[in-house]
Amino acid sequence: MSNHKQRLSTLLMLILLGTTQLSIQATEPWRAGSAKVVITPQQFIWMSGYGSRDHVAEGKLTELWAKALVLQDPLGNRAVLVTLDLVGIDRTLTAAISKSLDEEYGFQRRQIALCTSHTHTGPVVGKNLGPLHYERIPAAEQKKIDRYVVQLHKKVVDVVGEAIKQMVPSHLTWGSGHCEVAVNRRTNSEKNVPQLRQQGLLKGPFDHDVPVLAVRDLEGELQTVVFGYACHATVLSFYQWSGDYPGFAQMALEKAHPGVEAMFFAGCGADQNPLPRRTVALATSYGNRLAAAVEETLAGTVRPVEGTLATHYREVPLPLDTLPSIDEIKANLKSKSSYEAARARWLLRDIEAGQPLQQHYPYPIATWKIGDTVDFVILGGEVVIDYALRIKELDTKSTTHTNLWVAGYSNDVMAYIPSRRVLREGGYEGGSSMVYYGLPAHWAPELEALIIDAVKKQLQD
Ligand SMILES: [Zn+2]
Repeated sequence: MSNHKQRLSTLLMLILLGTTQLSIQATEPWRAGSAKVVITPQQFIWMSGYGSRDHVAEGKLTELWAKALVLQDPLGNRAVLVTLDLVGIDRTLTAAISKSLDEEYGFQRRQIALCTSHTHTGPVVGKNLGPLHYERIPAAEQKKIDRYVVQLHKKVVDVVGEAIKQMVPSHLTWGSGHCEVAVNRRTNSEKNVPQLRQQGLLKGPFDHDVPVLAVRDLEGELQTVVFGYACHATVLSFYQWSGDYPGFAQMALEKAHPGVEAMFFAGCGADQNPLPRRTVALATSYGNRLAAAVEETLAGTVRPVEGTLATHYREVPLPLDTLPSIDEIKANLKSKSSYEAARARWLLRDIEAGQPLQQHYPYPIATWKIGDTVDFVILGGEVVIDYALRIKELDTKSTTHTNLWVAGYSNDVMAYIPSRRVLREGGYEGGSSMVYYGLPAHWAPELEALIIDAVKKQLQD
């Protein structure tokens, strides 16, 4: 080898070494682990979701699951996502679980998200939807619910521990699919939906995006898939435990990918229904369609998650409208509506216990930056679709806005969260549903601006 050639090959080798070192730094892997546990009540206890319910569950169509995914970026920043096949979760239970997750594994509040699927064929959980169920449930049955909540708490904490044990170096990708199951239930009458769909006359707003996060080990083997969809899980209303269409979607994905955890989070589907509905065949078919949208995304364009993980959490004091006086509440004890009267008793019980009515509700807003591109906004309550559409527009650099994911029904499902428009229009999502959640008044009109501003601030941080 001539001197010149030798110098050249040394130089080449140095360049190669340099690039290898650089690429090792750049592709230093994330770590991730997931696990799941059955949370179907062992006894037939009271079911949630519908005011017409008057007895305990009678059977089981599918299991209900709690699943956990722990993510850790190359710098060691961690977060845990828990998905639950439940109608909702209240603030007290989330606080208790978060405290345990901190004590056991060192997760801070901002690193924890508890997302529910809003299935209407799951159990009553804690104080969620209090006035809807509470007074109809005999004391002995309430004790069973309380015991279930204690078991649920322990199972969630344990499944997170199991997910930590499963952590391995991982490669994350993300994408977004499309599924047209959701129908705006405020702008389309249920009985006309098949006809309107056929004629292409279904009215919005809606959001048919299906955000997908895929976690693979370094051999490329799929470990976990997280996906979301903005639509009520209300296909079924009978007395058998089931995960409704999100349950069937998760089952289809897990069947197609044995050993994989498929995790569903509900989006801002408060004003969206899966229509038509009420048969197991429809729940299965909607679940399969959603699973197919996820599969298509996995097989199509997915992008690597690059960069790091950042998690934020804040409780924004959301104002209620003018609060009722004690006399007004007392007058409601005689209301013709049994729910109105139940709410009055619910509120008076609290007041007599020394907890006066609060003008503001501490509304939980979390934002996770999953790498440089994906922003995961995690909201409490039953959030209407306007929020998803507005939040997606916050990323002015994106043309498709599919990198902004919005979950509702997370951490605390305290009420419906109408936009200013829906609040003004009124109706169930606009305010009349407040009674079932036991809140004393409608939201004040500024709620939308307060939520959007808080999300914006967190995303900019
Ligand atoms: Zn709902």
